[in-house]
Amino acid sequence: MRVALQGRRVRGWVVAVEVAPTADVALRPLLRVTGLGPSADVIGLARWAAWRWAGRTVHFLRTASPRGVVAGLPPVPATRLEPAASEGGSHDELLGEALARATSVLRLPPAAPVLPLVLEAARRGTTLVVAPSSAVATDVAAALRRSGMPTALVPGEWARAAAGARVVVGARAAAWAPAVDLATVVVLDEHDESHQSEASPTWNARDVAAERARRAGARCVWTSPCPSLEALAWAPVLAPSRAAERSGWPVVDVVDRRREEPLRADLYSPRLVTLARATGTAPADAGAAASGRLVAVLNRKGRASVLACSACAELARCERCGAAVAQGDDAILGCRRCACRRPLVCLACGSTRLKVLRPGIKRVRDDLERLAGVAVAEVTGASGSEPVDAPVAVGTEAVLHRVASASVVAFLDLDAELLAPRYRAAEQAMALLARAARLVGGKAGGGRLVLQTRLPGHEVVQAALHADPARVAAAEAERRRLLAFPPTTALALVSGAPAEAYVGGLRSSPDVEVLGPASGRWLVRARDHRRLCDALAATPRPPGRLRVAVDPLRI
Ligand SMILES: [Zn+2]
Ligand SMILES: [Zn+2]
Repeated sequence: MRVALQGRRVRGWVVAVEVAPTADVALRPLLRVTGLGPSADVIGLARWAAWRWAGRTVHFLRTASPRGVVAGLPPVPATRLEPAASEGGSHDELLGEALARATSVLRLPPAAPVLPLVLEAARRGTTLVVAPSSAVATDVAAALRRSGMPTALVPGEWARAAAGARVVVGARAAAWAPAVDLATVVVLDEHDESHQSEASPTWNARDVAAERARRAGARCVWTSPCPSLEALAWAPVLAPSRAAERSGWPVVDVVDRRREEPLRADLYSPRLVTLARATGTAPADAGAAASGRLVAVLNRKGRASVLACSACAELARCERCGAAVAQGDDAILGCRRCACRRPLVCLACGSTRLKVLRPGIKRVRDDLERLAGVAVAEVTGASGSEPVDAPVAVGTEAVLHRVASASVVAFLDLDAELLAPRYRAAEQAMALLARAARLVGGKAGGGRLVLQTRLPGHEVVQAALHADPARVAAAEAERRRLLAFPPTTALALVSGAPAEAYVGGLRSSPDVEVLGPASGRWLVRARDHRRLCDALAATPRPPGRLRVAVDPLRI
């Protein structure tokens, strides 16, 4: 609705009725009722989320509201339940077991479809499905409709959801969508970081979904090929038989680069070059593994991130600040620390011939085209959305979202992911491999991952090789406990102009520990979220732009 506030017409929500005003409050009439908004249970959920992610309730009320005005609700066809089209076998049993519990984590291998779970849940009552992306949500909604299930795809079909669609599905904001007589909440790929908002409040749809189910007395199932440690702490994990899980992961070639003679510093193992050549030469009917596309992943943009002079061997560094300079798209060296730029020239001897010590994807594209003799496309998050049709595609991890299918995904420098200086690096690397595994499919279809590494014994490599993601969780849980990182603790990252004053206030709380500052940011740590969020809420916020990121993912 609209209300008059300080001379302006302001949007508002009715969050309670039959409230007696206190003596100092003068009542005013509403200007206008605009349309339907979130229901009482979702308003309660918004208040909880404001506490849990140190944000404002109004932020979540906006997320929970329809995009346009919804004045009335459309009719929704009654759900006709047909007998379950059982595929038979242990998979049905596994789904039944997951839906028999209040909370469960279902570890499904990358190639396993999620539709059987959603259909089985929908047979038991209204089901809310939170997908990791709009693309996945759209696919799931289309498949549900083909099977005759009354479905609302949100945010577009908010009204249909509120009218009582049997399944409500959408990306992150779907955790807030209307659902009548909610019976089951399903979160797909719970480990996926896209469930969490990058802007603060940094709320996570997975956790909102779980809290919503708990409040509604509904069951909640999280699925993932590689459940996060948060998931393992939340509910028991149900997994298919070892044989079923293994067949749902691709073949994994571990290319141990320490064994190559001579020891090579480049990114192109003989195995990789052979596979890339095969994409161009095999006839179209040679089977998916031989004729399909090869996708090469390297999380380094531009042409080179480290160069040295070919004449005097001096490293190319920034003349102002001394950091290594990188070469992007053009013949310019740029400093990523201070943004200083100069032409491609050695400062020590004046030579213009520089050698690439650490190539980026632009250089890799040229090299692979030459080595394999096939067309190679370059894909980054910034490239457009036109389809990629070259037999080989090279890109940052964004390429895994841009290419519709591939028969081989090769990680050119997996060690850069495994050794990334972030506390979640191992889980993030595992999630990348799971994403790639889904692109190439399971063993039966000939899907293949190629992992170029000097750490073949690393638990992430071993987990992919043996289709056993529990290996990562076991090693990682121990490290987190030793380092006092989540989920054994709860963290918030505080930054912005008034951050110092704010953490000054937090220091007086006995329940939290303040670390930092590092790069103008403070880390606030507590034993659990109750202590952390209570302390954040109880500490007055100084004026100015304060950013509080609860559960930061990339530190
Ligand atoms: Zn510099
Ligand atoms: Zn030189």
